[in-house]
Amino acid sequence: MLKYLKRYSEQFSSNLFSANKLRFLILFVTSQCNCRCSTCFYWQRLNTGDNLSLEEIKKTSLSIGSLHTLLLSGGEPFLRKELLEICRIFIEQNKISILAVPTNGTLTGQILEFSEEVLRTYPKITLSIAVSLDGFKETHDSIRGMPGAFDKAVATLRGLAQIKQRYANLESGINTVITRNTLPELKSFMDMVYNDLPIDFQDFELLRGQYKDKNLELPSLDEIKLIHRAILKNRERYLVKAKSGKIESAAVISLLKFVNSIKERILSGKKTAFACSAGKNIGVIDANGEVRLCELKPPIGNLRDNNYDLPALLNSPFALAMKKDIRKNKCGCTHVCFIKLTVSHHLKTLWYLFSNYLTYSIKHE
Ligand code: SF4
Ligand code: SF4
Repeated sequence: MLKYLKRYSEQFSSNLFSANKLRFLILFVTSQCNCRCSTCFYWQRLNTGDNLSLEEIKKTSLSIGSLHTLLLSGGEPFLRKELLEICRIFIEQNKISILAVPTNGTLTGQILEFSEEVLRTYPKITLSIAVSLDGFKETHDSIRGMPGAFDKAVATLRGLAQIKQRYANLESGINTVITRNTLPELKSFMDMVYNDLPIDFQDFELLRGQYKDKNLELPSLDEIKLIHRAILKNRERYLVKAKSGKIESAAVISLLKFVNSIKERILSGKKTAFACSAGKNIGVIDANGEVRLCELKPPIGNLRDNNYDLPALLNSPFALAMKKDIRKNKCGCTHVCFIKLTVSHHLKTLWYLFSNYLTYSIKHE
């Protein structure tokens, strides 16, 4: 029941004392995708067919040392034939604790087979599958550019729920991208998801990056503030459903509130109060071996030209100059992974979370 609190504590303790140690790696395992999402920020790099080979990934993994979380991205990760082998490399060589796989959820058979195999073979790993679902059927299929995508994603979630009955180390949920276009149905969509789908969480990302459909846009700041309130309430009911205790609930809600307040600050045009830790405790490898400090920054080099040595690339003079620039210009964005990793190596975060915990406890006395 204390899984999130345990996870956050681990994240804070490891990041507070070794802020420059890579803990979280985003690995694009393929550029191939079977969808054509209007919200995709990676669309210009899709379906190039240029993916790191298994051998190249193995060499890269050897350069890294231990990692806490591996997040497999793409394209659609489940289109990569050697996905299981790639995971084995990081589980065995890098001792990861969490394997996170965001997916469009359309390849139900592959996803269920993969999950069962990982969970059966590696009972100490937490496998977190997040299926993209951006609205009701018509909205979702139109965003994905694929008729039937909604039904397939729901079938995947139902299949994962069955697997979950046998494996406590599986968590499955939904990632929803918020745009102005999906705003009118967002609250009723949240209700449908909560009432009808067997999931552990529903997370939300704001539309970001150079997305494909230029007609899309973000809601206004005031609208986003209202959505954030609804998201907090939504998260609370999942905690109640999971019978989470007060400490666990306070930890989850406090962190969510904190992350949302940072997003609101950035969207209001103010500079972030935290220097982003991109390229320090979190980094990105593209499908073709290009390395980035974060998904939105230009590449700092390619593993193929650098002996597959990821730490050397992340600490090259070019990368250090880019990190300095990020710090100096107080670069800010709304990507949740980067915000969480950034705040986790600042002591003032602990104070914020503690005061929020007290407020939450008094409110729920
Ligand atoms: S958002 Fe994901 S599923 Fe959609 S086109 Fe881009 S990579 Fe594919
Ligand atoms: S704030 Fe966002 S865009 Fe800037 S470096 Fe960090 S993750 Fe990248």
